[in-house]
Amino acid sequence: MNILVTGGAGFIGSAVCRLLVQNPENKVINIDKLTYAGNLQSLKSIENFRNYKHYCVDICDEQKILSILKDENIDKIMHLAAESHVDRSIDGPAAFVETNVVGTFRMLSAALTYWRELPTDKKVDFRFHHISTDEVFGDLPFNEGIFTETTPYAPSSPYSASKAASDHFVRAWHETYGLPVVLSNCSNNYGPFHFPEKLIPLVILNALHEIELPIYGQGNNVRDWLFVEDHAKALELVVTQGFIGESYNIGGREERTNLSVVETICDILDMKRPRASGKNYRELITFVTDRPGHDRRYAIDAAKIEADLGWKPTVTFEQGLEKTIDWYLDNEWWWRPIREKTYTGERLGQA
Ligand code: NAD
Repeated sequence: MNILVTGGAGFIGSAVCRLLVQNPENKVINIDKLTYAGNLQSLKSIENFRNYKHYCVDICDEQKILSILKDENIDKIMHLAAESHVDRSIDGPAAFVETNVVGTFRMLSAALTYWRELPTDKKVDFRFHHISTDEVFGDLPFNEGIFTETTPYAPSSPYSASKAASDHFVRAWHETYGLPVVLSNCSNNYGPFHFPEKLIPLVILNALHEIELPIYGQGNNVRDWLFVEDHAKALELVVTQGFIGESYNIGGREERTNLSVVETICDILDMKRPRASGKNYRELITFVTDRPGHDRRYAIDAAKIEADLGWKPTVTFEQGLEKTIDWYLDNEWWWRPIREKTYTGERLGQA
């Protein structure tokens, strides 16, 4: 399989590339224009693999995308490239419309032109897999409701609105032009190589620096969490075995309040890296003014992907969190340059 992954230098995209190249029958082509969130260091372990290649290209450059599709003889597209940070979307929504909406439209246009010219056998196997988020479904009450594939879209932030729009375009390209698409909507990911402004790495690294651990509001917003490597495995299943035109909700069935996530990180660090002062890390938790339009709760019903594709997460939240903390403790070479140069702590990073 020749697979084109967009956004392969990002958090989830790099996990997908690292997974897919392990199969020597795959050729993995990573299209990533390397925004602040893209980092080739996350691909260091595979950069010399013969079945891996990176192109520094903007997904909005339709002609370039089309020529790469042809040159690399692509069988499947996994479209992850996006602006992905809710707080950044509130400060500057234009980039989200440009990349997430216009960029997805350009990717669809290039894919459709390419697909129409394929010979019949390759046409049948071709897929455009659009990777999206549970945030498109909007706000759930604290104690009831769960997102299924048929839950109506009700996005609250510029980020989730742009992802919702892109999902609709993908579905329309299937309904109108017959492009063989599959979609997936996943809950909050966490794990190694996560950009240090997002909640879990932010809290781990702030704690190690013994500075405040900021939490929006009272910390009672609830998110469902999934270890990134389990998401990557789900995505591989969806692109290879998912039914054309279908969407799949992916989640860990691991709902936690933000406060409980932060407290769990503090407790694990108390054991693994006790503070010299003897105080515990929880003492650094600070509550700050809530973000506007902050959805209370997201919860994913992953029954469809479990039943249809046989997927299940391999780690619990506590196991995955411990792996993640160990990774940040062992891989300062990766996060220190970002923490010192790209991300200077101005955003809180809660989804
Ligand atoms: P990320 O911000 O870590 O990575 C995005 C990547 O896309 C970066 O490498 C960036 O350089 C690249 N990119 C951005 N604009 C581009 C453009 N115009 N052209 C080419 N490359 C561009 O994001 P992530 O957390 O890895 O998320 C990947 C995808 O998964 C996104 O579509 C996101 O909406 C979705 N998603 C994320 C989560 C999560 O918890 N992180 C959950 C569900 C779905």
